[in-house]
Amino acid sequence: MKILLLIILGVTPLVSLDYRISAKLDTEKKTVTGQEQIVWKNERDAPATFLVFHLYMNAFAGSETVFMRESGGRHRGFGFDRNDLSQFGYCQVMGVRVNDRDRISAFHGLSTLKNREKYGVFWKNEISYGIGADDTLAVLELDEPVPPGGEVRLAIDFETKFPRIFARSGYSKSFFMGGQWFPKLAVFEGANGWNGHFYHLHSEFFADFADFSVVIDAPSEFVVGATGVCQAEVRQGRRTRWTFVAERVHDFVFTAWDRFRVAEDRWKNVRLRLLYQPGNRSTVARQFRALKAGLDICEYLTGVAYPYPHFTLVDVPFHGAGAGGMEYPMLVTGIPFSPFYPESFFIADSVIIHEFIHNYFYGILASNEFEHPWMDEGLTSFATSLALEKYYGRYITPLVYASAFDLDAIGMHQYRGREFPMKAAWEFAEGYGTMSYNKPSVFLKTLDNLVGRETLRRVFRTYFERFCYRHPRPEDFFTILRETAGGQAADLFERGMETDTRVDFAIHSVHSENLAERTSINYDPRSFKFEKVEPPVRGKAVHRNTIVVGNRGDFSLPVTVRAVFKDGSTLDFHWDGGSGWKRFQFMSEVPLVGALVDPGQVYICDQDLTNNAKTIKKQTGWVFRKGAAALAAMGVLMFSVYSLLF
Ligand SMILES: [Zn+2]
Repeated sequence: MKILLLIILGVTPLVSLDYRISAKLDTEKKTVTGQEQIVWKNERDAPATFLVFHLYMNAFAGSETVFMRESGGRHRGFGFDRNDLSQFGYCQVMGVRVNDRDRISAFHGLSTLKNREKYGVFWKNEISYGIGADDTLAVLELDEPVPPGGEVRLAIDFETKFPRIFARSGYSKSFFMGGQWFPKLAVFEGANGWNGHFYHLHSEFFADFADFSVVIDAPSEFVVGATGVCQAEVRQGRRTRWTFVAERVHDFVFTAWDRFRVAEDRWKNVRLRLLYQPGNRSTVARQFRALKAGLDICEYLTGVAYPYPHFTLVDVPFHGAGAGGMEYPMLVTGIPFSPFYPESFFIADSVIIHEFIHNYFYGILASNEFEHPWMDEGLTSFATSLALEKYYGRYITPLVYASAFDLDAIGMHQYRGREFPMKAAWEFAEGYGTMSYNKPSVFLKTLDNLVGRETLRRVFRTYFERFCYRHPRPEDFFTILRETAGGQAADLFERGMETDTRVDFAIHSVHSENLAERTSINYDPRSFKFEKVEPPVRGKAVHRNTIVVGNRGDFSLPVTVRAVFKDGSTLDFHWDGGSGWKRFQFMSEVPLVGALVDPGQVYICDQDLTNNAKTIKKQTGWVFRKGAAALAAMGVLMFSVYSLLF
């Protein structure tokens, strides 16, 4: 597979991390006990004097962890019972050997670590928000530093107790979603130290690429799915050992349920596997269709063929819905599917598309999701809406006149705060969803309209050519945008992400006078008198029209201003948007009835669309206003459903 990757992507593999895990799932106690062997090579130019681990399941080890304090025990509308002790979870490390020497006494969770300052600054910013520290991070002190180019071998014994699922990972009845379940190394950034963060309410994950070989030992009646390719399935008595191998991925997830049904399909060279709920057989084709739409849009947009040989889609049960709508390498979960979803209402389909697309932005590029959540969620949301538009039709349902991008825009316009996307996940007190998902999508769609699809595809192709497996940062995307789409597009997008500056065009006023029906009054200084003057009328063009258009936003952007006449004909003007406002005055045969700014809706990022049109006659204005209000109300309703589900 590595040779294939080299040919496709033309980059050198950088994998210097290897995990071998043997894990036994106890479906009664809801635990997994594991032995983990890690080989880590220091690829940076500074020595590592200690190692940092994520023990994510400690987010559920009590009610006072960072995650629990931030979430109050609820996530995306799902919660759990904080009085039921059996619903909590943990990840406990029982043994650590470094190059075969026992070092368990040098392994400390952050909550009890003394002299935390000694271990770098990676967690300081978070603690400054008054969040506190917990054991979702741990430090292993080394008795000898790992020099640049040096290697360390670790053997870790651990036990993870899954929480009752409400946030991504855990158990529900006999269903298991094993996400973030094993001690995982943070990312060493050389002189900058370790990049690791607490498990926060909003934050997702960041890790180095690694090769995994994982054995999951579970009761034989369970169906097991995981990151990677299943290489062996060995039954011993009432239990089975499944061996999964994955190369160059930055996480490893598994799922197990004794009620899963299995379906298989193919897309080009990729084997597709669907683990679905009993009773959902009739939805199999529909779920695969959504998955293929995701595969296809990614190849179309990035020019990169899906680089892994296998992909698993998980249709989670309703009672474990908190595990739904989540991405992992080579495996994602949709929201619970149902044969009762009408074909024309494709929210569940869109979640499958969205989660698959993450396998490109989160999976192959692997930006830092803690620090730049918008880079993954925002670009993924844009590609999702593009896929819905391309493969599912312009409108979300035949009943609601709103496209996927309209919903993104409505989501963005609903937000009235001053947040902006370029923040770390824990720096959002509000607006995380709007800023990480909607705003980048809406701004990218604006670029799509402004510079054209082919230019935008070149941006994405270049982004993937340069940064596959390389953890790109915001400036990497901005640089490519500037090189490929030009300074104006890059400025708009960059400032859109870094600030709360706005785009807002408006029609200030529209007037039309029939000069044949009126005379002007003039003061004549020679006679000290006022006099009536017939205005100059050229041919039949007796209507003198005035449109005043304003730029109430923070950007100088070119825009079209459209005059609409009584007979339905139109006349377009071009404005560079440079001054605060501009007056267009012109004569016409037919009276003017109204004006629009940006009639093609290039700027779907326009903060206030209700001021983009104005009519002269009051009745028409009423129709315009009520129409817009009805549309907005439907949009808000749709968006509420949409945001609940995501
Ligand atoms: Zn997402």
